[in-house]
Amino acid sequence: MKAHEGMYIDGGWRAAAGPDTIAVVDPVDEQVIGHVPAGTADDVDAAVRAARAAFPAWAATPPAERAARIAALRDVLVDRKDEIAETVTAELGAPLKFSQSVHAGVPILVAGSYAELAATYVFEERVGNSTVYAEPVGVVGAITPWNYPLHQIVAKVAPALAAGCTVVLKPAEDTPLVAQLFAEAVHQAGVPAGVFNLVTGLGPVAGQALAEHPGVDLVSFTGSTAVGKKIGATAGAAVKRVALELGGKSANVVLPSADLAKAVNVGVANVMGNSGQTCSAWTRMLVDTGRYDEAVELAAAAAAKYADRIGPLVNAKQQARVRGYIEKGVAEGARLVAGGTETPHEKGYFVAPTVFADVTPDMTIAQEEIFGPVVSIIRYEDEDDALRIANDTVYGLAGAVWAADDAEATAFARRMETGQVDINGGRFNPLAPFGGYKQSGVGRELGAHGLAEYLQTKSLQFQGK
Ligand code: NAD
Repeated sequence: MKAHEGMYIDGGWRAAAGPDTIAVVDPVDEQVIGHVPAGTADDVDAAVRAARAAFPAWAATPPAERAARIAALRDVLVDRKDEIAETVTAELGAPLKFSQSVHAGVPILVAGSYAELAATYVFEERVGNSTVYAEPVGVVGAITPWNYPLHQIVAKVAPALAAGCTVVLKPAEDTPLVAQLFAEAVHQAGVPAGVFNLVTGLGPVAGQALAEHPGVDLVSFTGSTAVGKKIGATAGAAVKRVALELGGKSANVVLPSADLAKAVNVGVANVMGNSGQTCSAWTRMLVDTGRYDEAVELAAAAAAKYADRIGPLVNAKQQARVRGYIEKGVAEGARLVAGGTETPHEKGYFVAPTVFADVTPDMTIAQEEIFGPVVSIIRYEDEDDALRIANDTVYGLAGAVWAADDAEATAFARRMETGQVDINGGRFNPLAPFGGYKQSGVGRELGAHGLAEYLQTKSLQFQGK
């Protein structure tokens, strides 16, 4: 794998301020595949200065021209799709097919949607005797996780550029190579120097320096709720805008009228994709008492099919963490019906596709985000009981409802305390706002709502009409 030794700042690759590097490890065979610089506060400062210097001109660039640059970026992502997929597979461990369709494919859709939105968004409107302008917030500090490494980057950078903001990105330390590839793509797309800058490094060093930098006007963070709370507090103290995409514990509610086999099979697939490292994964499956045993059998069979198809987790720490949750599930009395802590792999950070039955809402595995291939099946008595269980969590990121028809599922979904719900297996929509209720976050990504995060409003009043 090709790895840059420097940082992408002000339109070029320059040496890092300090000598330290971060090793990038392939989670399948545990081999080091490259090194990237471990950025410090000095690198962050240089990047923020470049972003600030580039801001006035980029903010004043007509939206159509900004749209053209984002469209060019999308085209580079299309041209380099195979390379992107191979890079994500190498540093995240995802099976190549999944990397091609999801890790490389979804960012193309999202970049394409912002090329269109930048051109069509209403940045100026007349309200009575006022003109209301939507103006870019300024310099954005973007901090992203490793689970969907390129998607998380594009979901922040594309709307920020569309809005007229400039960006400093601090990507996850486990997956910096695809971030470097993205910086190359931005360069190829002809985005002016300083509009996008990349600083690789550790969270508590480079990430924290970025969140605390007085030259950053908005911090957009995706990752754990623990770090999100810290970033929210830092931003709050400085009265700085903040957007947080945090954890989830989403419910997959199978109503009594639903096609059980379909709901269970799609539900298990939803959790096993990306080895369970999906913040919106439907990790709690809710099934009525009458069909509970049948659902458990179906889920165990569905999970078994993933045993030799699933990729590893990103690193040894995540593997140990997920295995710890599996042990806790057993210790608290849940019934293991598929998977467990053993895998047939001698190397790599694998965890077997795991299903727990007889899970009660108060158990740790029903409350905490596991971030691994683990499904917990919970029984409910009636619809009100199902709703109570679905909402009995500090999180509210996503969810699913299955019923005989969309109207019945919709009525239930409207009562759920969560930001996005798939109705009877609803299809991914890059224009649909994504984000959390409760402790799952603040703000929205994707579509026009995602663009609005990077804008602030100014109104001018006139004497005449
Ligand atoms: P994390 O929150 O530690 O890391 C996410 C990003 O924040 C990374 O770029 C990291 O370098 C940076 N970071 C870490 N500490 C920081 C700090 N003090 N200041 C500024 N930036 C900092 O997440 P993780 O350790 O990679 O994963 C741990 C857990 O987070 C997972 O098990 C999962 O529960 C959750 N997670 C959620 C998502 C999501 O999309 N919601 C994604 C990844 C992880």
